[in-house]
Order: sequence, then C-alpha cells, then structure tokens
Amino acid sequence: MAAEVGKKYVIIGNGIAGTTCAQTLRKNDLSCDIWLLTNEPYPLYNRVSLPRFLQGLLPEQKVMIRNREWHEEQRINLLTETVVTRVDPNERVVYLDKGGPLKYDALLIATGGWANKLSVPGVERASRIYNFVTLDDTKEIIAAALESKHAVTTGGSFIAYELTEGLNVRGVHVTWLMRGPYWLRTTLDEEGGRLVDSIATAHGVEVVHGEELREVIPANGVPQRVVTKTGKEYPAEIIGVGLGLTLNHGFVGDTGIERRTGIVTNEYLETNIPGIYAAGDVAEFYDSMIGHHHTMGTWDNALAHGRVVAVNMAGGHEPYIDVPTYTSPLFDTNIAVMGIAESNNPELTSVSRTAPGDKGNQDYRKFFFKENRLVGAVFIGSPKGRKKVVEIIRTGQEFATSAEREGLFEVR
Ligand SMILES: Cc1cc2nc3c(=O)[nH]c(=O)nc-3n(C[C@H](O)[C@H](O)[C@H](O)COP(=O)(O)OP(=O)(O)OC[C@H]3O[C@@H](n4cnc5c(N)ncnc54)[C@H](O)[C@@H]3O)c2cc1C
Repeated sequence: MAAEVGKKYVIIGNGIAGTTCAQTLRKNDLSCDIWLLTNEPYPLYNRVSLPRFLQGLLPEQKVMIRNREWHEEQRINLLTETVVTRVDPNERVVYLDKGGPLKYDALLIATGGWANKLSVPGVERASRIYNFVTLDDTKEIIAAALESKHAVTTGGSFIAYELTEGLNVRGVHVTWLMRGPYWLRTTLDEEGGRLVDSIATAHGVEVVHGEELREVIPANGVPQRVVTKTGKEYPAEIIGVGLGLTLNHGFVGDTGIERRTGIVTNEYLETNIPGIYAAGDVAEFYDSMIGHHHTMGTWDNALAHGRVVAVNMAGGHEPYIDVPTYTSPLFDTNIAVMGIAESNNPELTSVSRTAPGDKGNQDYRKFFFKENRLVGAVFIGSPKGRKKVVEIIRTGQEFATSAEREGLFEVR
C-alpha cells in the first residue's frame, strides 16, 4: 500500500526495533519525514555483541551497526542525547528535553527498558557498581575490570550470567549470587540449572544460591566487599548487577495509552490510541502464536517488530506472527531458547532430558507444549536441530503421545 505523501513519523528509541522501523519506512516511502530519537549518544549498535566486547573478543567498531552518514543517506533525522519527556496524543506531539516539540502523523514507542539499580546500604558511597545494558556501561566495566581482582555479580537472568562470564574472561575472580535455586528460573528446571552451575564452576566462578546482597562495604569510594542476606562476606572491587529491566514508558503518563508491564498493543503493534504504536522490548503485544499478550526481550523479536510496525504505521494491516528465538554463548557451550519457554506457566507442560554431547559437554533439552502443540524449547549444548524445532513450532504440529514427545529429543 502506498503511504501518504509527506507523512511525518516520529520514532522514540533507536535500538534495533526503532532503527529497523525507520529503515523500512524509508524503503517503502521516499517522501516521508522520519525522526528517530534516543537519549544515548550513539547511532544503532548491537547490544547482543556487548558481552563479546566486554570479554575483549570484539573491538568497539564491530559493535556499531549504523553510523551518522547512513542516517543522512537515508534521510532519517537522528537526534541523539535527546530524551522524550511527554507525549500529547490529542495534539499529536512529542516533547523533548531539548529542542522544540515534534508533531507526528504516526508515532512509534520503541524505548526498551532501563536496568534496575542495586539498592542496598553502601551503594551511595561507592562507584564501580554496574548494570549492563548500554555501550557506555560496557566501556566502564572494562576499565574497572582492568584494575580489579574480585567481583560479585548478582541476579539469575541472562544479564547476570553475561556479566559473570565477561568478568571471568577478563581474569577477575567472580562470586555469582542468585536468589533462586537455579539460573533462568522461568525457563529452565533444576536439572538445566545444575548444568549451568557446573559449566560456570568449571571456569572458576563461585556460584552461590539462595543469596542476595544486603550491603556494600566501600573503601575510598569503591567497593571493597559485600555482605549477603545471611551475613556472609565476599571480596569485590566491582559489582555487576543483573536484576532485570523496567520497561521505559513512564513518559506516556496519563495520556490514556494502555500500559501493563509494557505498552499494550494488538497483533498489528498498534496501541489503543490510533496512530500510536509500540515495538521491541517495550511492547506487550498480542501474540497469536499463543493467544495472549506478553513482552519479549530478544533481538530477533525487536527486529521483526520493527519491520512489521513500519508497514502498519504507513497504513498497512500486517499482523506480527513469529517464533521468537534467543541464542547466546554460555561459557564454552551455547543456549538457545525458542518460542514460549516458560517453566512456571501453568498452561504449559514440558519434557526435559540431559544427555552426553560433543567435546565432553552435556546436552540439555526441554520442550514445552500447550495442550498437544509444541510451543517452545530450550537447548543447552549442541544447537543441532534448532531450525527444525522452530519450524515445528511455527506449523503448530501436535504431539499427543509421550512417545511422540520423546521423539523430539532425536531431532537433529
Ligand atoms: C548485554 C545484553 C546482551 C543481550 N544478549 C542478547 C542475546 O544474546 N540474544 C538476544 O536475542 N537478545 C539479547 N539481548 C536483548 C536485546 O539486545 C534486546 O531485546 C533488544 O536490543 C531490544 O531492542 P529494542 O529496540 O526494543 O530496545 P533497545 O535496544 O533497548 O533500544 C531502546 C532505546 O530507546 C532509548 N530510550 C528509552 N527511553 C527514551 C526516551 N524517553 N527518550 C529517548 N530515548 C529513549 C533507550 O535508551 C535505548 O537506546 C541482550 C541485551 C543486553 C543488554
């Protein structure tokens, strides 16, 4: 469908969702006016590459995906270090912390999330306590790691793991504190969690479960040690914090844009306010693969959202239907999460198994079913068969008997 001539688009957030949307809008319409806004100082960079940058495996240039020249060529007005403070859906205007307000015909909110800060006594007197979300976070962690021998990381999420591995690879001794009984509690089970612990321990990480930070004891403005909830002490000159994200939608205030955990959209990624859309991590979108709304914090999902939402902002009507996948190195092995992999979701049943894999590693696989349909899977170890499993999820294949479900462990 041809877009209206001269339509004006404003996109808040220049991550993969926002930048992909801008690129797709331009590809489909040479005459439109596109504004892409971010509080960060950089054009699009690859957040998924930050762990390898932290480990010293990638230089900064390889983390960058776009430069300013690309935006000029595409005629995308990129405003960096600019915070959107308010949206007025009646006037169709967004307000910025600097510069005049911007009018829009269609608005995309693709603002992702900001990391939750550690909030315990002592934090206010110490630097070198890091979240791990931005390129600037990563640069600071690298500089501090070069001067440190001990670190404590805290959290049971991907980010806590990435911090743990990054600091470990930098030669810092890491104590990893997790409140829960195992890592990635919403996806794995005890068996999978034990496997991840054994991988981390084999690399020299001290993994401690059932523990949280109670206090940071600083000396000369940097951490010296931490005290846990049960009173144990661990040395730490750096603290890595992986305590989840809070999605960035506070600036929409009382505009009437529906919000829960994220900004609520239908399967076309449109909010309840006409002309306003959300995409990427911040969108709590209707997922027709599973029949309800949820948020999804993965790169592939944000990228695919960016493409679809651009079509719909320009007047199209394309639903978002995809099987999200998340893959990540896990020390010297891999993890892949496909589709809806939620251990605590009462609507889902699952089967899991650990078996000997390549190079002395263990392969863990878990499959999730809604009624008899395969809806998700987790692989730790060999990723073989991942594409076939994604296809099975996509086509809604049924697995009624336990023999059929067991057969999934053989998919390669
Ligand atoms: C260290 C790390 C490792 C990861 N590894 C993986 C991985 O291996 N695989 C995977 O699938 N995913 C991974 N992810 C998750 C993935 O990076 C995200 O899902 C994805 O980047 C989300 O993109 P987005 O465009 O929705 O939001 P973001 O990339 O978060 O971009 C949103 C942008 O909007 C800006 N913004 C927010 N509010 C405002 C405002 N009011 N005004 C202006 N700008 C604003 C933000 O600062 C940010 O720049 C990782 C994330 C991190 C942090």
